Amino acid sequence: MNQANSPLTDTFGRHHNYLRISLTERCNLRCSYCMPVDGVKLSPAEHLMNADEIYSIAKTFVKFGVDKIRLTGGEPLVRKDFPKIIELLSTLNVDLSITSNAVSIDRHFELLKKTGVKTVNISLDTLNAERFHSITFRNYFDKVYQNILNLLNEGFKVKINAVLMRGVNDDEILDFIAFTKDHPVAFRFIEFMPFDGNQWKREKTVSYLEIMKKIQENYTDDQIIRLQDAPNDTAKNYSIKGYQGTFAIISTVTHPFCDQCNRIRLTANGHLKNCLFSKKENDLLTALRNNQDIESIVRQSVSSKFAVRSGMDAPESFEDPKQHQQNRSMITIGG
Ligand code: SAM
Ligand code: SF4
Repeated sequence: MNQANSPLTDTFGRHHNYLRISLTERCNLRCSYCMPVDGVKLSPAEHLMNADEIYSIAKTFVKFGVDKIRLTGGEPLVRKDFPKIIELLSTLNVDLSITSNAVSIDRHFELLKKTGVKTVNISLDTLNAERFHSITFRNYFDKVYQNILNLLNEGFKVKINAVLMRGVNDDEILDFIAFTKDHPVAFRFIEFMPFDGNQWKREKTVSYLEIMKKIQENYTDDQIIRLQDAPNDTAKNYSIKGYQGTFAIISTVTHPFCDQCNRIRLTANGHLKNCLFSKKENDLLTALRNNQDIESIVRQSVSSKFAVRSGMDAPESFEDPKQHQQNRSMITIGG
């Protein structure tokens, strides 16, 4: 389909060729920045997309121009029919990838290889086992750490996502950088973002500039190499001279990258979200079940996308709690 006419091209000329599909609202961790302390009200099972519905919607998006799909959640690997879903999606002509907390990813190495997954994004917010427990409320640090090493041994490209929170794990910035010395991973610092129920406060977000300042105090300008960012990359990428890995900063709060945005999200209950921060959603699953054509719904959703963070143009707009409460919790969006 011609890009200009595609339902995936918005009024600012951004073409959304990258679909993130959330497979579940459930998780085997309870990261404080993602899962509200009291949990979330889960959608009834019959309101969630089944494997064939996921495939059917994904196939339509591929027809519109999607060429990259990332599976996320919740934790995508807790879905019992994960093998069926990824095998179906691997028949589409897309770059297929996954974001996981790595707790059980070792059970799926062969499946991931067979279905063409080359890059995996793993969440790890600390290199300290006790702190891992205090952030995630589970004792899986050793498993996750070992699985990151296993993924590298198995030949996967590994990106590690760490949400930095002031007073929680911001004292580990240099430890994370040191980790890239002998490990060929792409380590990504993510600015803590506000979502429903995650107790966000502006002062808890550690900014891009603060992270860079810390690194610049410990490495010389000659050692810090600014790398070329990939097209549509949300991260600003760097490496330390001589280190095997790289590091990057995803600065959604202080330096948004919305003008480059090519992402669109499908929630586990089949709703389309045109932005991580959008309050409005479009129900594709009900339309599919009613045998309605979803093209006009997709077109309407994409064409109503705001220029910046669903209308939260300035950083101050985050201060208004209503902005986050009208959005979902991250666990039910799919990052
Ligand atoms: N369970 C998988 C995982 O943790 O990688 C996939 C789902 S998780 C919601 C996807 C990504 O969202 C993770 O990298 C996580 O760190 C990020 N995330 C969740 N809540 C966030 C927040 N409040 N601010 C920034 N990133 C967040
Ligand atoms: Fe689960 Fe991922 Fe959210 Fe942590 S960030 S609670 S691992 S979905």
